[in-house]
Amino acid sequence: MESSPDLDPNKDDLPLCANTNHMLVRHYVLDLAVYIQRKVIAGSIVLFLEPGLGSSKQCESGCASNTQDQSQVSTKHDINSPITPEHKRLIPPEEPPYLIGGMDVGSEDESEEFTLVLDCCDLVVSRVEELDVTTVLDLKKLDVNEQDVYAGLVQRLVSMPSSCWRTQHELYLQCSRSSNIVNTQPLQFHMDRWSLQIRKKGVRTPHDFPCAVRIWYETKPTGGSVRWTKDQDGRCCVYTMGSPINNRALFPCQEPPVAMSTWQACVRAPCDFTVLMSGENQAFPEPAETGFQQWDYYVTMPMPASTFTIAVGQWLEAEVKVTNYVDDKLSLPLDSGDEEYICSHMDYPCRFMVGPARVQTVIPHRVFAPSCHLQKAQDMVLPLLPLCLTAAHSVLGVHPFPRLDVLIVPSGFSSLGMASPHIVFLSQSVLTGERNLCGARLCHEIAHSWFGLAIGARDWTEEWISEGFATYLEDVFWSHVQKLGCREAEEQRQLKALLRWRRLSDELQNSEEELQVLRPNKENTGEVSESGASVVKHALNPEKPFMQVHYLKGYFLLKFLADQIGEEKFLQFFKVFVGKFHGQLILSQDFLQMLLDAFPAMSSQGIALETIFSDWLDTPEMPEWLRDECSEWLRTPAVQEVKGEVAKWIHFSGSGGKGSKRKRAGPKVNFKELNPEQLVLLLEFLLEECNLSASTLRLLQSTYNLQAQDAEVKHRWCELAVKHKHTAAYRDVELFLIHDQAMGVYLYGELMVQEDARQQALARRCLSIIKDDMDQSARTVVEEMIL
Ligand SMILES: [Zn+2]
Repeated sequence: MESSPDLDPNKDDLPLCANTNHMLVRHYVLDLAVYIQRKVIAGSIVLFLEPGLGSSKQCESGCASNTQDQSQVSTKHDINSPITPEHKRLIPPEEPPYLIGGMDVGSEDESEEFTLVLDCCDLVVSRVEELDVTTVLDLKKLDVNEQDVYAGLVQRLVSMPSSCWRTQHELYLQCSRSSNIVNTQPLQFHMDRWSLQIRKKGVRTPHDFPCAVRIWYETKPTGGSVRWTKDQDGRCCVYTMGSPINNRALFPCQEPPVAMSTWQACVRAPCDFTVLMSGENQAFPEPAETGFQQWDYYVTMPMPASTFTIAVGQWLEAEVKVTNYVDDKLSLPLDSGDEEYICSHMDYPCRFMVGPARVQTVIPHRVFAPSCHLQKAQDMVLPLLPLCLTAAHSVLGVHPFPRLDVLIVPSGFSSLGMASPHIVFLSQSVLTGERNLCGARLCHEIAHSWFGLAIGARDWTEEWISEGFATYLEDVFWSHVQKLGCREAEEQRQLKALLRWRRLSDELQNSEEELQVLRPNKENTGEVSESGASVVKHALNPEKPFMQVHYLKGYFLLKFLADQIGEEKFLQFFKVFVGKFHGQLILSQDFLQMLLDAFPAMSSQGIALETIFSDWLDTPEMPEWLRDECSEWLRTPAVQEVKGEVAKWIHFSGSGGKGSKRKRAGPKVNFKELNPEQLVLLLEFLLEECNLSASTLRLLQSTYNLQAQDAEVKHRWCELAVKHKHTAAYRDVELFLIHDQAMGVYLYGELMVQEDARQQALARRCLSIIKDDMDQSARTVVEEMIL
């Protein structure tokens, strides 16, 4: 792969090295122990492999076969990829194997050998071995007639129908625990920065390569995707924080999203620790070796390895005091089938096909937090969850996943939330203030169950497919939860649109153009090299995690499309789209083309795939529609109300500055009550003022009780305090930087640019307090600003 012209990563690009076209992992069995003192996770992983479609086919004309077309709709594939000499050496399966009885026949040249490439970094691999599954008695019962007994057994195992998944999992487990290995000689392996390469001496083709491989390894305390840190109670914990390098520092895996696989994991941790994972079952700990408990999780739905998630800490579960919802629909007879689904995905036990699952509005859910946040999590998150889940179900239908855990993650977590199958990580920043921020964020993360997880992006650079959709749906779900009337809902949406528009224009002015494009690979999107490897553009750029352009521009594109069609029809279409594409990976055009086909009237308004690409997805800067549209949002009554209040404050400040007699009259101004989103806008407008008196800022603070508001409000308040050197609020700024790390990154920059000694000292002090707990890329960005 070193010679492939497709792979020329600059330092910001992440290589996805795995040669998924040659060999595909179908199932992982992880057997791991968490060693808190050493900050290491150690054990083994067994990979059940199947030769990829590209491993044997080479059509007569010499073109590489289309190996990737799993979604059956996206037509882009690797027909243009060059045929490397290595590819020409691939031997069709019907030819006799070159390796007999482990003896090296004929080939001394290692470069002739087939290499299994796995994505991997920061791991210490000690041994790689080929499992002998022929000794697993139950497996032998699977009727196999093929001559190649060994490969035949594993092939039979991985292709068992989903109705037999329990038997299949049991067999996977038995195989993975087999102590018998083929030959006593381990497989050869080599590691470089991003990958683990495995060979078997003399084996030249994927078809002759072992189908069950065990890798013994351990993680490193500073591994790039496994975060060891302290929770808010000061106790050690570890979690996968959704790093750009995904899970390759947790286990060797195939990262390209097309490598969808299932997994089972047995994780042992000290008895006082709770192991949460993205498995579909609620695991209950079983006693293991002294001082340890064992947690077993699994999934039956094949997913990209990047969605695997684990969090181990002394989390406590928030208690359900009263059942505040009645899932009455469960008792209803199956509806007459107004939602007809046809599953087009690989075979797995799909909830879309199960009557009771389809009408389940609220899936089982739990909330976990460190003890100091348990009460807040219980009061804030727990009552919201069933409401948000119900709203999501009423808009999109079937929950794709059977359960949900929510974990309040350590303060160094770099965003407000992150969704994985069956588990959502939530920042402590959503726990303060009114419920709006928390509720909207939960809606956002729940929306990812459909967009981002059940339907994933086939090309990771098209992040808008998950983030734009979740941002758009967050508003839809949240107005359902609040039971707003049409007019109120519309007003709230317009206010939010305006806030997002302001954020987007700010970001577009202050970022590299290259990072502003939603479909960076343009017409080459989804293409991979002959082996299946590719690079993810800009994935490692440290600024990228703090950019919102995919969320915001993506959201506005959907809003634009909804405006053309009408929201009701648009959301109805979402349901149909989900019905067709769940369990599959998509490219932008899969959604857009289906939409354009469903609403042919759009083309008469000049809206076509090409124009959407050129206006929205393939170019930087603000799309034209948005430039005009924001003036309408400014006229919304909720926004007008804010403007009225802003005028009062400016007047107050002006008069307050003039004389002390007038100043006393000031506090009698009648300020209207504003909701949290309005407050954010009010503070943003006030941020545009050059002069605001100290008494104005004091009154502002006490009028709205700003330090007790949600993190979005507090953020603007801190910006105001910094801008006007309002020393009375410096404590608020300090607390915000320490407790709201997901949002405070750019506040450091603002503290530094004013060249005020006291502000700079504050920034440095906060950094020194939290630097060890901070997210690595946040720390890099902040240190660059400060040092
Ligand atoms: Zn299905």
